[in-house]
Amino acid sequence: MKNHVRVIYDPSVAKDHTAAILRGVKSLERFGVLVDEGLATERTAVKPVRLGRYIRRIIEERNGAPIDFKCWGIRLADVFAASPKDILGFGVLEDPLLLEKDGKIEESVGAGRFGDIALLSLFRFMEIRNPQLRLKALETAAKHEAAHLFKAGHCTEPTCVMQPKPVVSKSVLVESILLRPDFCRDCEREINAKVSLREYELNHISGAG
Ligand SMILES: [Zn+2]
Ligand SMILES: [Zn+2]
Repeated sequence: MKNHVRVIYDPSVAKDHTAAILRGVKSLERFGVLVDEGLATERTAVKPVRLGRYIRRIIEERNGAPIDFKCWGIRLADVFAASPKDILGFGVLEDPLLLEKDGKIEESVGAGRFGDIALLSLFRFMEIRNPQLRLKALETAAKHEAAHLFKAGHCTEPTCVMQPKPVVSKSVLVESILLRPDFCRDCEREINAKVSLREYELNHISGAG
């Protein structure tokens, strides 16, 4: 069994936007990760995804609440689910992404948690008027957040896509895609190792997800 990441989005999201995001997430394919896509509205697409119900809720409910990564109820339900939840989810949001950090609420374009969940919000990218630039920015941001599924933390190498992706400023979003399009060698190596390790766990340790 291979590592598998599924990009989940609402059918209302524009096709060129989902395609750009999928291109970014598919950069994980070079490490041997399977990448596909599914609609948040399709039960069968969401069901085998770890925290899939949570991702669907964030996408569909649009209640403007900050993301609670703990979501214990759903984690517990996943553990006792009849079918395995081995696919990692990459959720695409249309609303701003609000995160709670040290008691403060902050907006971010994306979030990715090691072995857990990745999210990307389209909201700020809509401020980039040039469509080519917007799609390129989405692709790069998707690459960054997807890589967090296999790499915790950031990189200090100036040209690496895993540099901390700053917040929500349009100019910084554009700058980041021009200056940091790809993984540096160290990140490449680290992600490769983590992907292999998780693949081993998927195949040898029951219940790992
Ligand atoms: Zn990051
Ligand atoms: Zn790096």
